[in-house]
Amino acid sequence: MVVQANASETRYRTLFSDSQIVMLVVDPNTGRIIDANDCAASYYGYAITKMTSMRVSDILEASPDDIRSALELARMEKRDHFEFRGRLASGETRDVEVSTSKIEIAGEEKLISIIQDVTERNLAVEKIFDMATHDALTGLPNRSLAADRLRKACLHADRSGSSAALLFIDLDHFKAVNDSIGHDVGDLLLKEVAYRMKAVVRSEDTVARQGGDEFLIVLPDLHDAAYAGNVAEKIVLVLSEPFELRGHEVHIGASIGIATYPKDAPDAESLMKFGDIAMYQVKNSGRHGYRFFSSEMHETSLERQIMANALHHAVEKGELSVEFQSIVDTSGTNMLGMEALLRWKNPELGSVSPAKFIPIAEDTGLILPIGEWVIREVCRKIAEWQEAGIDPPRISINLSGRQFRTKTLAEDIIGILYETRTDPRYIGLEITESMLVENVEETAATLSRLDDFGFEISIDDFGTGYSSLSYLKRFPVKKLKIDRSFVTDIASSSDDLAIARSTVALAHSLGMQVVAEGVENETQFEVLRSIGCDFVQGYLFGKPASYAETTKRILGKA
Ligand code: C2E
Ligand code: MG
Ligand code: MG
Repeated sequence: MVVQANASETRYRTLFSDSQIVMLVVDPNTGRIIDANDCAASYYGYAITKMTSMRVSDILEASPDDIRSALELARMEKRDHFEFRGRLASGETRDVEVSTSKIEIAGEEKLISIIQDVTERNLAVEKIFDMATHDALTGLPNRSLAADRLRKACLHADRSGSSAALLFIDLDHFKAVNDSIGHDVGDLLLKEVAYRMKAVVRSEDTVARQGGDEFLIVLPDLHDAAYAGNVAEKIVLVLSEPFELRGHEVHIGASIGIATYPKDAPDAESLMKFGDIAMYQVKNSGRHGYRFFSSEMHETSLERQIMANALHHAVEKGELSVEFQSIVDTSGTNMLGMEALLRWKNPELGSVSPAKFIPIAEDTGLILPIGEWVIREVCRKIAEWQEAGIDPPRISINLSGRQFRTKTLAEDIIGILYETRTDPRYIGLEITESMLVENVEETAATLSRLDDFGFEISIDDFGTGYSSLSYLKRFPVKKLKIDRSFVTDIASSSDDLAIARSTVALAHSLGMQVVAEGVENETQFEVLRSIGCDFVQGYLFGKPASYAETTKRILGKA
């Protein structure tokens, strides 16, 4: 290129040739490369003479239209910054950032382009973005990316008049698997779950991991929101198939809540909340299945919220009390013991059933201070009886799974007994089957410690939980309590009778005794006695009663 050099051109020329930066001079009208410096030649892998016979389209991976419009924008100085995918002589492609400025050479407009390779930087950015938006274990999008996709799905629904849906998925029994078989198998299970779920959705759907054993699925562009139910059904089905993991056959299931846009909620945030509420309803009604959100559910969840707030102050405001229900033997009416049952009376809410508030206390963690209060209260009542010269029978206290999961449970209970000077032989502890399977080794150790100390351990609501018959013999359990649901129809249902009968046989073969719960009439009582049940508890022998009533009962005056 022979040009008549003026002052600015001379300056450019020195800068251009000596520069360690990749630089090209380009004709904005034709896209021809007019000049290239040494650095450009070695970067692209062409001789300078070769480069000056090329066009920018030869070193860019871009459509002719995109190139033309970039040159035009640069020429008009509307933009001076572009990102392209560049192509080297070797065929390799790289991300390049191109900065342009206009210069006049021999009276003609040209562009000086400075080219910077930003491939590494882009990869790093991509990686960071990926880490910030994906779950490391399963590789699925995380909650924040799912929320973003859900927002986009709502926007799309607005424009196209379609619907969008969010599936909120929680695995059933995941914790039991994780705790009993091990975390590495738990991790494998989560990956496998992710794989199975992805296999049943469309390519435009997003399967994401919300955290723990919770997943989200975003379904955009639905002509009929009811389609979300089909997807949920498929997910429930594929997750109920057994998993083969390192030689273990693992069974789980899924509880799914569905919220749809625009029917259920006005925005993505509320959809997330409502999906969660609907999922919760599935969990509460026995797990394993799916449900669409409904506005009644929202009311229920508001009611829960109000209850949770009130429950926060229940201990300090003295709103809690304990009632006692007798457990008697089937031979006569000898009192074996009593069960302590928690009562809550709030000025605004009235008397709230434990079946309603205990699950809330468990979810919010309030069961820990409340459970501690129950143990202390029972000990105080035992002391009061003793001071009055009455020797009370053993009193069983219900423990929740949440209490059981605190590592210090045995120490906490023993501490309260020391503090209140209560003899452990007065205390029984009722736990549920599912607590046994959660963390077998630790549970066995805790229970042995409590057993050594003299507490009597029973399994409550037997037959309703996650089956753990094979585990039973590993724990120092003295009694099984057959759940009321098997007792109610025991006289007419052969299934219930068979379950009760085999529970009795199993318990006896393991050296345990059986208590039947919820015995309301003579017929049930007779059947239970005939199958060898050892003890009974129910309205037939007395409803749960206050401390004063119970005192009369113990003294045989009521
Ligand atoms: P649970 O431990 O199985 O207690 C037995 C429940 O059956 C009690 O319900 C009792 O009142 C009721 N019941 C007893 N006999 C009969 C009968 O003949 N017919 C009928 N229909 N019901 C009968 P309640 O007091 O409402 O307690 C419900 C559940 O709440 C308890 O079931 C227990 O799981 C939980 N709970 C109660 N107190 C506590 C506590 O202090 N801590 C914990 N963690 N849970 C508690
Ligand atoms: Mg109980
Ligand atoms: Mg029970």
